Amino acid sequence: MIPYGRQDISEADVQAVVDVLGSDFLTQGPQVPLFEASLCAATGAGHAVAVNSATSALHIACLALGLGAGDLLWTSPNTFVASANVGHLCGAKVDFVDIDPETFNMCPKALEAKLEAARDLGQLPKVVMPVHMCGQSCDMAAIGALAKRYGFRVIEDASHAIGGRQGANPVGACEHSDICVFSFHPVKIVTTAEGGAATTNDPGLAARMERLRSHGVTRDPALMTHAPDGDWYYQQIELGLNYRMTELQAALGVAQMTRLADFVARRNALADRYDALLSDLPLQRPGRQKDTLSAFHLYVIRVAPDRRKAVFDHLRGAGILANVHYIPVHTQPYWQGHGFAPGDFPLAEAYYSRAISIPLYAGLSEADQDSVVATLKQALA
Ligand SMILES: *Cc1c(COP(=O)(O)O)cnc(C)c1O
Repeated sequence: MIPYGRQDISEADVQAVVDVLGSDFLTQGPQVPLFEASLCAATGAGHAVAVNSATSALHIACLALGLGAGDLLWTSPNTFVASANVGHLCGAKVDFVDIDPETFNMCPKALEAKLEAARDLGQLPKVVMPVHMCGQSCDMAAIGALAKRYGFRVIEDASHAIGGRQGANPVGACEHSDICVFSFHPVKIVTTAEGGAATTNDPGLAARMERLRSHGVTRDPALMTHAPDGDWYYQQIELGLNYRMTELQAALGVAQMTRLADFVARRNALADRYDALLSDLPLQRPGRQKDTLSAFHLYVIRVAPDRRKAVFDHLRGAGILANVHYIPVHTQPYWQGHGFAPGDFPLAEAYYSRAISIPLYAGLSEADQDSVVATLKQALA
């Protein structure tokens, strides 16, 4: 069996987790701040807040930006459902912006056209959430310029993209956004089993997200309604959640982050190799955006829509566990129940009808990659 993605766990990773089990803290100890420091070092962001999933990070990012009832969140229809769900969890309305068919990312031109129409209607979004599909950054300079012009906030869903770069900026530097979110699920670039984090350069947003991940409670006397009753004292000053990451997860994350550059380099080498090996086959390879280093979470090929299921089934039949990313969110029954219908975002739907994610992960051997290519050749013959 060759999965489409899997974790890469070293002896040092195992030892880091075992060491935590023998230490004083299983949660709320030194490993989470160390992991957060490693995220700041890798991205250049001023602050990082680690939590128990990217979904949680997206949720507290929206809350920290004040997203609530009467507000609008716009995201890409070509994403995992979590990107849209967090808007509803905050009580906001959700809408989508169609994709660029070459990069599979939110199209800045489509965004601009939709913003122009929304301004006329007085229905501008409060938050726009571009998604760095497959690990390739959206055009953040363009989206950041629109944010200034139309007055919305930006949360990057970079669940696929840690270790990627656009121009001189590592993904997560937040030059053109308010907050950037990563996922550490095992299929992603680095893993903490479950886990996520938000980076930001705004100390106020970082402090707010830290509070929201831990019940809305503060120990900062400056934020209390009166002087602390004693050293035990805390105050709950807003409504929060328990979204904390454990020390076991953070220690794994610290160990994994030492190999981030290697993971991304290996994924890029394998992606380049796919590009070469697949060049003669009747399929489209992923588009590359210039001046951008993809973290290559996914390698998505596109085939004729009437062949997609047969090709997918052929791969699965040969033990190659291909996948499809993503079923357009607006076509999910839940979202159809909230006013959306097939046909609303035709480019995301056309992309979906052709897409297959083939195996790509740091531990994929060239021999296994060759057998993926050989099986694809049979399937497309
Ligand atoms: C994986 C993923 C998420 C959710 O990440 P979790 O850590 O599993 O919560 C959100 N958005 C995108 C684009 C993802 O790929």
